[in-house]
Amino acid sequence: MPVETDRNQPTKTPEPSHFGGSFLFWLALLLFINLIFLGKPLSSRVPYSTFISQVEAGKVVRAVVSSDKIEYELKSEQVTKQPQTRPHKVFVTTPVAQDTELPKILRTHNVEFSAPTPSQTGWISTLLSWILPPIIFLTVWGFLISRSQMGGPAALTIGKSNARIYSEGTTGVKFDDVAGVDEAKVELQEIVDFLKNASKYTRLGAKIPKGVLLVGPPGTGKTLLARAIAGEARVPFFSISGSEFIELFVGIGAARVRDLFEQAKQQSPCIIFIDELDALGKSRSATGPYLGGNDEREQTLNQLLSEMDGFDPNNGVIILAATNRPEVLDPALLRPGRFDRQILVDRPDKVGREAILKIHAKNVKLASHVELSKLAARTPGFAGADLANLVNEAALLAARGNREAVTMADFNEAIERVLTGLEKKSRVLNEIEKKTVAYHEVGHALIGALMPGAGSVEKISIVPRGVGALGYTLQLPEEDRFLLIEDEIRGRIVSLLGGRAAEELIFGKVSTGASDDIQKATDLAERFVTLYGMSDVLGPVAFEKTQQQFLEVFSNPRRAVSQKIAEQIDQEVKMIVDGAYCIALKILTKNRSLLEAISQILLEKEVLEGEELRLQLDRVQAPENMDEWLSTGKLTHECLLIQTTLNGRTTKQ
Ligand code: ADP
Ligand code: MG
Ligand code: ZN
Repeated sequence: MPVETDRNQPTKTPEPSHFGGSFLFWLALLLFINLIFLGKPLSSRVPYSTFISQVEAGKVVRAVVSSDKIEYELKSEQVTKQPQTRPHKVFVTTPVAQDTELPKILRTHNVEFSAPTPSQTGWISTLLSWILPPIIFLTVWGFLISRSQMGGPAALTIGKSNARIYSEGTTGVKFDDVAGVDEAKVELQEIVDFLKNASKYTRLGAKIPKGVLLVGPPGTGKTLLARAIAGEARVPFFSISGSEFIELFVGIGAARVRDLFEQAKQQSPCIIFIDELDALGKSRSATGPYLGGNDEREQTLNQLLSEMDGFDPNNGVIILAATNRPEVLDPALLRPGRFDRQILVDRPDKVGREAILKIHAKNVKLASHVELSKLAARTPGFAGADLANLVNEAALLAARGNREAVTMADFNEAIERVLTGLEKKSRVLNEIEKKTVAYHEVGHALIGALMPGAGSVEKISIVPRGVGALGYTLQLPEEDRFLLIEDEIRGRIVSLLGGRAAEELIFGKVSTGASDDIQKATDLAERFVTLYGMSDVLGPVAFEKTQQQFLEVFSNPRRAVSQKIAEQIDQEVKMIVDGAYCIALKILTKNRSLLEAISQILLEKEVLEGEELRLQLDRVQAPENMDEWLSTGKLTHECLLIQTTLNGRTTKQ
């Protein structure tokens, strides 16, 4: 492989400057050779007819005839008679094709003639034509390499890793630019410290971790943290993304890994950062035996594994990697001696969010009444990237409104934008649709206001927004939650079904508008049974294999279950959803007049929020047995009755 030779080159070849000198020498030699072989004795070119007439006049002594040219000499006395000032001995002409008469004419005029002997220079030029190009090629190549060794731009990067190298401060990011991930920062600072004063650690016999894996949901600042390290550490920082390793051609990816480590070892102490490690380190078994896997990725991964084993932990090369999908990583990557330390970069809590908002609001002009702590309270679950986006959206809104500073209202609108997308005033609904949407949303809001742990309903709107929402109910949790209690999950399912329940109760007919709610409610009910083990019938048994840790996608494979269990799961899921729907109907039936009243206001105003909304929602009354169902999930007889009386739609239990 050319890479090998290219890397060994510098040890074999002389000093770069010397090499440059020998290049010039070669060039001169080539020119010289050219002169020798091309600089033949001068000859003059004459028309063929002249040649023939000279032969017929008996002036020609000898001729060398080949298919495309005739070289001939005149008798010596003829030469001097030529009119030219400089006499030529040899003349050249181009024969007319297939002059079969020519030998006869030459013979009759006693011209000595022959075909050209294979010329003495022929074999040399043949040889040279074979040897010269490679020599030229190698010379130029060597020259370029020697230049790149001297620090000039590398012209040839076949197989060279594309890692960008940062030195201190070049990323312009410092640890102070990252907030809300204090534990991760402490650990990473320790690593920076090790690189700065390695002896402090090795003196005591401590081994420094070889590999550090930053794990966390998207947008929490993993890449940012790595760039901050590059900005803080006074060591070289190699950065490459996992997908950059993957190349079309088998083997190049592995060559890159080798090359990267080669470069890094020469520059130790240093940091290698591999972003999006999952692109490279996907579990080798995950591709499945029938798909044939991805040869290239596997080779690259193997190379990475063996490189990580191959260096001494205390030689000062630390590998930092980031991923938001730790569960798909090859277990071989995670074992001790490789990425043995994992640092969680989690979504920020309220204090962290405030700190992140402060960082991003630094360059934004805020109105004096804006309180970042209030914004932090309103944005649970937002990652750092969402918050950065939020500040920017608010600033854009303020600019569009020609305001002097960004106001709290801009921030509130921006939160809605981040959560639900842009308003689409252009989408015009007809009267029936509008009415349906209004009752649907008020249904969500009334139930949402009653459910435990769901936070407060902040806003109801029937202005279409985002990708498909015709209306929406904004309900913000009051605090960060890390656990959900079972009654809260049931409550959430009830709220989700509130829209559909309102449609059914008021119109007796339902619309397609609830399909997304139904999807979510069913998903949640399924997780309730198969993932959280909360079903009384099936008990604390997991029926789903792995849990996607960060991306909230629950498309996990079911465990192999018997037909009977599968049926039971389906039954349980249906029980929960039906029960929740029944409770939703009960609540709305009990609060029917309130539902009608609020919906009328909403139809008029399109948006309902703040104090006005709160006053209305304070009047909601909980039906009896609601709390019992929420905590036990047991359906009451009365609940079954409600269902049977409603259009026969949900009759059977
Ligand atoms: P990740 O790599 O974890 O997906 P990034 O580091 O690319 O996320 O974050 C994207 C952007 O979001 C950053 O450039 C930064 O502006 C902002 N951001 C994310 N997390 C934080 C944080 N903890 N502190 C400050 N800004 C953050
Ligand atoms: Mg990233
Ligand atoms: Zn809905």
